[in-house]
Amino acid sequence: MGSALQSTIGRKSADLLAAHLDMHTVGDLVRHYPRRYVDRGKLTAIAGLELGEHATLVAEVEKSTIREMRARRGTMLQVVIRDEQGGRLDCTFFNAHKVKHLIYPGVRAVFSGKVGIFKEKLQLTHPQFEPLDESDEIRPFLSVYPATAKVGSQVIARCVRQVLDVLEDPTDPLPGTVRAREGLADLGRALRRIHVPDTDADIHAARHRLVWDEAMGVQLALALRRQATVARPAAACPPMPGGLLDAFDARLPFTLTAGQREVGAQIAADLSRAHPMNRLVQGDVGAGKTILALRAMLQVVDSGQQAAMLAPTEVLAAQHARSLRALLGPLAQAGELGGAELATRVTLLTGSLGAKAKKQALLDAQSGEAGIVVGTHALIQDRVGFAGLGLVVVDEQHRFGVEQRDALRGRGELAPHMLVMTATPIPRTVAMTVYGDLQVSALRELPKGRSPIATTVVPLAEKPQWFAGVWRRVRTEVAAGHQAYIVFPRVGEDATDEETAPDEAAPPPDDAADEARRPPLAVLDIAPRLAEGALEGLRLGVLHGKLPAEEKDTVMRAFERGEIDVLLATTVIEVGVDVPNATAIVILDAERFGLSQLHQLRGRVGRGAAPGVCLLVTEMPEATTARERLDAVAGTTDGFELARLDLELRREGDVLGALQSGRRSGLRLLSLLRHEEIIAKAQVYATHLVDADPGLASSPGLAALVGEVVAEDRAEYLDKV
Ligand code: ADP
Ligand code: MG
Repeated sequence: MGSALQSTIGRKSADLLAAHLDMHTVGDLVRHYPRRYVDRGKLTAIAGLELGEHATLVAEVEKSTIREMRARRGTMLQVVIRDEQGGRLDCTFFNAHKVKHLIYPGVRAVFSGKVGIFKEKLQLTHPQFEPLDESDEIRPFLSVYPATAKVGSQVIARCVRQVLDVLEDPTDPLPGTVRAREGLADLGRALRRIHVPDTDADIHAARHRLVWDEAMGVQLALALRRQATVARPAAACPPMPGGLLDAFDARLPFTLTAGQREVGAQIAADLSRAHPMNRLVQGDVGAGKTILALRAMLQVVDSGQQAAMLAPTEVLAAQHARSLRALLGPLAQAGELGGAELATRVTLLTGSLGAKAKKQALLDAQSGEAGIVVGTHALIQDRVGFAGLGLVVVDEQHRFGVEQRDALRGRGELAPHMLVMTATPIPRTVAMTVYGDLQVSALRELPKGRSPIATTVVPLAEKPQWFAGVWRRVRTEVAAGHQAYIVFPRVGEDATDEETAPDEAAPPPDDAADEARRPPLAVLDIAPRLAEGALEGLRLGVLHGKLPAEEKDTVMRAFERGEIDVLLATTVIEVGVDVPNATAIVILDAERFGLSQLHQLRGRVGRGAAPGVCLLVTEMPEATTARERLDAVAGTTDGFELARLDLELRREGDVLGALQSGRRSGLRLLSLLRHEEIIAKAQVYATHLVDADPGLASSPGLAALVGEVVAEDRAEYLDKV
């Protein structure tokens, strides 16, 4: 299947496919599956058409005329088509110049669309159409391919058939036992049937088998990765009685929840081994993951190793460094007056440190003086040398892909243990794919003393007068001694600076109402107006990603100390920010944010004794998808439920994309929503197969499946380890 196309389909077609569809080999072409099928048994005759029905019919163009449109500029193509039974029907196409070279007298095509009426005659308005070849044999199903303007579906179909005619059945990579147990068609048959089916059952069976291939490819890649990682040596860091960790536990002001104890024990056991831990801890906002991370870091420090904690933003890194120091007290004051005897040091390392401070921090990391180094990913990954890095904690990084984790592990002699923490709940299939190289633990309960958060949608489209109420509510909270956040989708002063992360952004506008939308509200535009208007007299602070890091830190600290009443911010506060006195969060243009993102944002309140309130302000009208999404957030505090909805709304390619790089996705049929059961089974098979044949050294077929889904550089990397 790796052979060039030219010898089978000829130079001209091969060049077309290469130039317009980036297809170069027989494999590229046979893996280009039909997008849909036209079932000829379900074709309608023109004579029997009824108004309003959705019809698919095969007919020949008899006449075509280009007309200027009257009501607006542009041309249209008026066509009369005729089917084999002699029935005639009018069709109208807009943009005549785009279709006239495809639709002209003599062309036979499949037309499909809704039957309408014009001047008392039935007609199809701008139907979909697939021109048919002269040579097209009459088969039960017509395969419709993803095509381009230059290479139509039927051209692809013809090339595929030519290739299938001479293709020998490929050796099936899936072991016969797996195929038998799961009732899977063999590969050669599946490939033929997906292109040229005779029945619905053919299509179903072929797809099912090919989905399995993709699921197996993904799971084998992950199993190989797990195998390779676990095989690396790491520093074993068993608990040390009487060490820092024990001292810390003794001064902990609260008792750990049962969940924290359980996951803590898993981590402690992982760290004791001489192979790297790879664990993901997920726990809702405020579940107490930081303590777990700190305890893990102390266990590592007790063994004479260092730990690095990576945060996604400088704001969060700085806050982590402060809260770790506060939690540790004298235990973090090594070498200082009043420091405990076995104390270590927490060093903050961010881009905004002055040159001198940065140099000192780098030195502390290099010499091992700093047991714990906190910083942003970019910085630590690129620049820092450690005396002995035993553990990397990655905080709040659900956007941290497999590749990035590999890069962090480094190529040193000893691989660090790795602990990834996320508050974004992960649906099961995502855990099995994107995080399939990690072991997953969950913190399900929140520590006691958490307050409920009431979420309300403020629909300005129907209730504009509520807007004033939003600001009154903020003033009430402040009058009661509390603080508030106001979140904006945009910084301002530049139209292209949305701060919502690309993979979490709200789905593309799907409501007609969205089209003429104003640009998202920007904090820099609105802050001055609020300061002189609705929030006059309150102490306001502004925080966004474009501020110099030092200023960000100053603002954040002032807010933490209660010197700022209301923080006007972008999503820089999305994760981790922990100010228990903040009780209200107002999210403006709320429909611009992803569901999980909104859930994260509202987790900024309700962290103290007083109940929290979250107001989702939107101008989207009732009964739009945007409003349904917001109602979903208001309707549940179950992060898992929201994450599942988010997955449904996002293009899942974006999710699986974290697994692959490279020019073309090898995953064409696999769906994280629909194939949960297959993914789960494939995981079990893959684990066994890789255990039985480490590195898949003697299973070239299976290794090739891996190659189909993982980018080439990746596959090479797997070969080496
Ligand atoms: P997250 O999981 O969102 O990172 P944090 O670790 O920031 O949550 O914890 C949120 C707050 O809860 C912190 O102030 C932390 O000190 C506190 N906390 C953590 N564990 C407990 C516990 N077992 N009992 C009471 N408070 C706790
Ligand atoms: Mg946290």
